[in-house]
Amino acid sequence: EGTRAGAVATAAIAAVEAVIDREADELGRLDAIAGDGDHGIGMQRGSRAAAGAAAAAAAVGAGAGTVLEYAGDEWADKAGGTSGALWGAGLRAAARVIGDGAPSGESVALAVAAARDEVQRFGKAEIGDKTLVDALVPFAERLSAEVAAGAGLTVAWGRAVDAADAAAVATAELLPRMGRARPHMEKSLGTPDPGAISFVHAMRAIAEVLDN
Ligand code: ADP
Ligand code: MG
Ligand code: MG
Repeated sequence: EGTRAGAVATAAIAAVEAVIDREADELGRLDAIAGDGDHGIGMQRGSRAAAGAAAAAAAVGAGAGTVLEYAGDEWADKAGGTSGALWGAGLRAAARVIGDGAPSGESVALAVAAARDEVQRFGKAEIGDKTLVDALVPFAERLSAEVAAGAGLTVAWGRAVDAADAAAVATAELLPRMGRARPHMEKSLGTPDPGAISFVHAMRAIAEVLDN
């Protein structure tokens, strides 16, 4: 059971790598409007390194917690940039909660909530600061609410993605208060936050893995 969960976690990280590869140019373009333009490249470096570490751990039978822990370490190490440090910290927090046994919808929702808590503790961004937190918080909340209401993980995850997607699109109307985009506030108006958009791409790619 634990080994199967490790394989699913590895497929999830591989799916994130694939969608980030497809979206990298667009993410760079979004980040160039008010930031430094490296968000696509950073996410590519991080997710590629994470996918390699996950595959290596899964190949020796690791459970989901170990897979995500190695993936988080490599992501933070190789991505560079603010988002890389946050993705690494979030993955490691989720890894500690999910553990190497057989996960349930409840434990997955708790792991995502732990990632949210760690990203906010580490990055100090609140809702409305125009960061990936604006997508991560509604994602975690909707996932917990759906699981608590009895939805299966696949359905709950899909609805959480829809909630995060709407929130990420809505960041276009916000002024950045954190990160590199802050000195160029007014240029960012009308453009969504790149980190919120990449988060939604990643979670939607994972939804397809859970569906299979
Ligand atoms: P950098 O800003 O170091 O070049 P990236 O371009 O990879 O890093 O990532 C930029 C994204 O990081 C932003 O769009 C935002 O979503 C996210 N971000 C920046 N600062 C914070 C923070 N303090 N908390 C949460 N997310 C943040
Ligand atoms: Mg950047
Ligand atoms: Mg940068």
